[in-house]
Amino acid sequence: MEKSADHVHIDPSAARRKVLPDKEVVHRRELRRTPHPDAMSVEPFDALLDAVMCQEPRAAIASIDSALHHGLLPASDVDELFQALPRRFRRLRHLVDASAESGPETFVRLILRALGCSFQPQVVIPGVGRVDFLVDGWLIIECDSKAYHSSWDDQLEDRRRDLAAGRAGIRDAAHRRRGHPGTPGQGAHGDRRHPPHARPLTSQRQAGSQE
Ligand SMILES: [Zn+2]
Repeated sequence: MEKSADHVHIDPSAARRKVLPDKEVVHRRELRRTPHPDAMSVEPFDALLDAVMCQEPRAAIASIDSALHHGLLPASDVDELFQALPRRFRRLRHLVDASAESGPETFVRLILRALGCSFQPQVVIPGVGRVDFLVDGWLIIECDSKAYHSSWDDQLEDRRRDLAAGRAGIRDAAHRRRGHPGTPGQGAHGDRRHPPHARPLTSQRQAGSQE
């Protein structure tokens, strides 16, 4: 995802003004939510509505996941959001998952689904702690980014968890890509070549339960 231009909402009744084609994208439509009279921005519902239409599907789902996770969009508003979107977006509705804690986590979840993997999100493994995904019961995928794992202490904790996972016989995809906070890592594809080293773990959440 690259920032290409500012996206600006303009009231349809406002006077036309010159738009800078390379620097801004203008949204002119009636708002669904009325902002506070002193507000300088639209309400999250309207910002999300425009954001979804301006993004490719995976990024759009990540935006909705994030808004839900951070409480900016009440879960009860999701149906209304998709009703307000053009019909072609409705096929994305079932992919939304408020449990995703970051954009990369949403991307990895969607990639795992597309690959047909059996996976459990946010699994607690004794001695390791909570991991983002456990794939096929033996492969850990963490979606951490530099933004949250850049300090020395964080890196030490990452290594401790890797060792604990290794002792438990679970393979860590170890795809932490430093310096790319918005990009999910790689590892799920290649690591599937290796045979499982451990019997599948159980967790509170089963694969597919996020739907
Ligand atoms: Zn836009």
